[in-house]
Amino acid sequence: MKKQFDYLVVGAGPFGAVFAHEAHKRGKSVLVIDRRNHIAGNMYCESKDDINIHVYGAHIFHTSLKHVWDYVNQFAEFNHYVNSPVANYKGEMYNLPFNMNTFSKMWNIRTPKEAQDIITKQRAAITSEPKNLEEQAISLVGTDIYEKLIKGYTEKQWGRKCTELPAFIIKRLPVRYTYDNNYFNDRFQGIPMGGYTKMIERMLEGIEVRLGVDFLKHRDEYEALADTIIYTGPIDEYFSYSEGVLEYRGLHFETERLEEENHQGVAVVNYTEGKIPYTRIIEHKHFETFGEAVDKNPCTIISKEYSTEWKPGMEPYYPVNDERNNSLYQQYKQLADAEPNTLFGGRLAEYQYYDMAPIVEKVMDMFDAE
Ligand code: UDP
Repeated sequence: MKKQFDYLVVGAGPFGAVFAHEAHKRGKSVLVIDRRNHIAGNMYCESKDDINIHVYGAHIFHTSLKHVWDYVNQFAEFNHYVNSPVANYKGEMYNLPFNMNTFSKMWNIRTPKEAQDIITKQRAAITSEPKNLEEQAISLVGTDIYEKLIKGYTEKQWGRKCTELPAFIIKRLPVRYTYDNNYFNDRFQGIPMGGYTKMIERMLEGIEVRLGVDFLKHRDEYEALADTIIYTGPIDEYFSYSEGVLEYRGLHFETERLEEENHQGVAVVNYTEGKIPYTRIIEHKHFETFGEAVDKNPCTIISKEYSTEWKPGMEPYYPVNDERNNSLYQQYKQLADAEPNTLFGGRLAEYQYYDMAPIVEKVMDMFDAE
């Protein structure tokens, strides 16, 4: 018998919202539910004192794909924000990602040739294929940058030694021999004016959304409502942890309002020293106000970001893609593939770190392939 909805989308984050929008556009009936009491997943922003707070940490949209950029621009106008975080190591300030500004400050040099000569000397210790993050980092940028800007930050973020972490994590970070502080290499980048929540709201226009509903607690009731389920929650939880628990890193934010116009002069400052307990401080107004406009608002809001151990029941952030967890995920993936009428997608259901744009791309591709 035909059920009430064609699709039940579990989770109103980017995967769920783009899926719901595309299905609705094609005349399908869609119900979206989320166990949180807000939409937009971790992209969720809250406005206070005219500042959009990135409640679950800094989100900067970036892509090189014109069709993905055009797609999100249907739902929001994007500003010209360019992510250029700064690292604070014992009070010394270095530009990120690792580029000529960083090298020049580190070694008081001027040319790419001088920087390359120093790094070549420092990386000489690593002669074979890097086996872990420490070796990978030293072979990319040498020992000085590793000690000051990578070691402490990475060990805080992941709660383990760089020698015990996989090399691929650090490959996300660009290294360039140009004076270019743009964190991303992508052609398009920005923050939706008015915040991400508004953007997701527009994607979900005309679609029924029920908040504060935990699918796994009301499974029978909700499964009976739709022919096909799009599940974007944690895959192990869906199967009642039958194969074991997949590990995550957690995050904890301490947010404060300060009576000053401009606290740190940039949206993101990374604290790369091991001793400082937080990994970074975000000053939210810098995502959406530039130049003189910054001082027009007499107050500012900052969030200290702490990386934490994670236990089931806590908010999962970063999948820990080591061998144990990856092979456990493969077991769940087999179960998921055998699950009739349910499609698993997104960071939690695929147990994979995803930026926002690749999620949009993935859902667009699914519909294009149809
Ligand atoms: N990283 C670092 N120092 C920094 C910033 C990043 O060593 O100041 C390393 C760290 O290992 C981190 C990885 O680069 O896990 C990826 O950083 P990215 O900024 O891409 O992580 P995200 O912002 O997504 O948390």
